[in-house]
Parts: sequence; C-alpha cells; structure tokens
Amino acid sequence: MAKKGKLFVISGSSGVGKGTLLKELLSVHADLKLSISCTTRLPRPGEKDGTNYFFVSKEEFENSVKKGEFLEWAEFNGNFYGTKENYVKKTLAEGKNLILEIETKGALQIKEKIPDAVLIFILPPSLEELEHRLRGRNTEDETAIRNRLNEAFREIECSKFYDYKVTNDDLKKALTELTEIIDKNI
Ligand code: 5GP
Repeated sequence: MAKKGKLFVISGSSGVGKGTLLKELLSVHADLKLSISCTTRLPRPGEKDGTNYFFVSKEEFENSVKKGEFLEWAEFNGNFYGTKENYVKKTLAEGKNLILEIETKGALQIKEKIPDAVLIFILPPSLEELEHRLRGRNTEDETAIRNRLNEAFREIECSKFYDYKVTNDDLKKALTELTEIIDKNI
C-alpha cells in the first residue's frame, strides 16, 4: 500500500508575501500539491474557476456545510471559504503531499481533526513593515487597510498554536526555511 501523503497548512496575513513564497515552493517541490478551496467571494481579474478557487454561491456553500462536506470552513472578510474533505482524504490516501493555504480559524479545525498535519505560519518582519506593505499596494481605502491590519493582529496572535513560524524578511531565506520544514516532515 502507498505511504500516506502529508498534510501541510500554511497561513499568514495578507501583505506577508505568502503567495510568492508558495509559488516558489511549489516550483522547487514537485511532490507537493496545492489544494483548491471553495469560496463565495467573486473572482478577481485573472482568477479562474477550478484553478484559483471553486467559486460557488452562498446557497451552494451552505448546502455543502449542511451535508458535512467540508473538512474545515470559515468566514473571512465577509466571504466563506472551505476545504472539501473528500479531496483531502483522497489525495493523502494516494500518497500525495498536500498544502492548504488557509486562514487561522480553518487551520485550527484541521489540527483538531488531523493532528499530524503540519501547521506553518508566515510572519511579517514587523507590524510596521506589514502596514507599510499593505499601504504600498495603493488599492484600498483607510478603513479597508485598518480592517486588514486588525485581522492580521488577530491571526498573528493565533500563530502560537502553529508548529512552525517563518519570518518573511528575505524571500530566499524564508524559502530555504520553508523547504527545510517540508523536507523534515515528508
Ligand atoms: P483571498 O480572498 O485573499 O483569496 O483569501 C482570503 C483568506 O482566505 C486568506 O487568508 C486565505 O488563506 C483564506 N482561505 C483560502 N481558502 C481557504 C479555505 O479553504 N479555508 C479557510 N479557512 N481559509 C481559506
């Protein structure tokens, strides 16, 4: 029988460079698969259904919750996000290693249900730097930036429940650390 795959959960507030780190990680680690979540939020320009997310209606999402199809789910910024249990169980049973890129409430549900999942939190170099990065995007008004910062503080507080923390002050250094954590746990 094939060895079961390992489940990794990666979280980190917006503006922390999580997306870039993950992209780099997946390009050097061919044996890692990135899970595709369901969400009720609308696609952003360039996002594709079935690639970035499965974009579903609120009704569809609620139906899946009722039927117990989600391994974890959470509300974030007024939208719902969830990971289908079937997909995770099947991928791991096939011996494939899977990464979930999800927020903290969902990550803690995973830890409860799959205790040997490895939780990794990506930290900004400092809160000042995070604020600077979020403001540098120039895409949001003051209220939206404040909300994101408050959400980031709450998430960083939750990072104490994670197995590993990686500070992203230098992309190359953070990628090396992340790769070492993955190698150690596969
Ligand atoms: P975004 O809307 O920017 O793509 O994602 C917003 C937040 O939702 C991010 O923190 C992302 O990690 C999180 N997220 C994405 N998919 C899931 C999921 O399936 N479950 C949970 N709990 N969070 C998710």
